[in-house]
Amino acid sequence: MNYNLILVRFGELTIKGRNRRRFESLMFTNIKQALASFSKLEFERSYGRLFIHLNGENFDAVSERLSEIFGLSSFSPVVRAENKVEAIQDAALQVMRGLERTPKTFKVTVRRTWKDFPHDSQQMNHLVGAHVLRNTPDLKVDVRNPEIELKVDIQAEATFVYCRVIPGAGGFPIGMNGKAMLLLSGGIDSPVAGWMAMRKGLEIEAVHFHSYPFTSEQATEKVVSLTQRLAHYGGRLKLHLVPFTEIQTMLAQKGRENLIITLMRRSMLRIAEKLAERSGALALVTGDSLGQVASQTLGSMNVIGRTVSLPLLRPLVMMDKLDIIRQAEKIGTYETSILPYEDCCTLFVPKSPATNPNLHVVERIEAGMKAELERLIEEAVAGTETVLIDSRGRVPAARKAEAAGTADEDRWF
Ligand code: ATP
Ligand code: MG
Repeated sequence: MNYNLILVRFGELTIKGRNRRRFESLMFTNIKQALASFSKLEFERSYGRLFIHLNGENFDAVSERLSEIFGLSSFSPVVRAENKVEAIQDAALQVMRGLERTPKTFKVTVRRTWKDFPHDSQQMNHLVGAHVLRNTPDLKVDVRNPEIELKVDIQAEATFVYCRVIPGAGGFPIGMNGKAMLLLSGGIDSPVAGWMAMRKGLEIEAVHFHSYPFTSEQATEKVVSLTQRLAHYGGRLKLHLVPFTEIQTMLAQKGRENLIITLMRRSMLRIAEKLAERSGALALVTGDSLGQVASQTLGSMNVIGRTVSLPLLRPLVMMDKLDIIRQAEKIGTYETSILPYEDCCTLFVPKSPATNPNLHVVERIEAGMKAELERLIEEAVAGTETVLIDSRGRVPAARKAEAAGTADEDRWF
């Protein structure tokens, strides 16, 4: 059926008061931005809900995009009727006739939030059900296991009739819960961690450490593509490209072979923390998953994590690799993640990396190169190149200037 109206329901109903208003207004902005390419759409906000008038835009295409937006609990194509019995009956028939397949059984569920409506829900159930049955041959009522549940929602301003409830992505609208810095490698895990952080309402900036010329241009481009995919969900985001070659080379020379990964990770976190502080991010996000590799044992996480004071968020920590892979496929990062280009950490993989590094030993090694390490960290921060990325790729200077001139409104998509 050619529906013209979509009713959008927002998530996290437990949010109250001022937060609720902020939630809704962010939600509204994010939805409008995400659907910006559908130029005929019209948006109508009423009583804490959002209606989208399709005006000829394709429902399936709009629906696919809507289901990717964080903070949205569900949505339905609906027919809106005046609060009159005949109008509601007509709407019910319209919805039934619009189904792709004619069902054999159905039931009507009436919800009456507007108590001044002259008929109660029981009576309305009957009035609507009987009308549909009279006008549809071979249709029966089955209250237990109907093929179609026809929902009639009687509200003060109008009645909404629909039968499909399409689940949304859930979570919070991006920006609702502040900003975090994502450590984005070229692997499978960290893009998924970034997606999960965004789903929780975090605005993300990404930081990637490269060891050019040991790592190739393609390795960096791969991370740009991954960021681009994240931008599909979260709008524009910054990617900080940190030159890590010197630190890595120094650690390889002066560190201890089995502790190299530990030392490298600690330096990465320190740099990420400095960048986070510079841009107002209040947490670091990584793709660590417990027990996956030597650097992700509890012992390693402890020693690595202690080097920074910002909270370390590890959305994947309790997930199985197969579930992470499935999620990567679903969000469209997997194909890029499995491209073969070398990551900076794969360059110096020791034969037997420590699975239970000793904090004192690690601290002693770092103390022995304190001044040099600090200088190199400062240089890496200073040498960081920041690129702005949206769902089309690197944002060229002209579009950047245009973006700088716009208010918060246009930040996301
Ligand atoms: P991923 O698939 O995300 O690379 P992984 O299982 O390969 O994870 P590691 O390579 O040990 O695990 O990395 C653990 C985490 O450290 C990554 O998820 C990422 O958050 C961060 N990380 C590793 N290498 C880099 C890098 N070059 N730049 C930025 N972050 C990195
Ligand atoms: Mg990796």
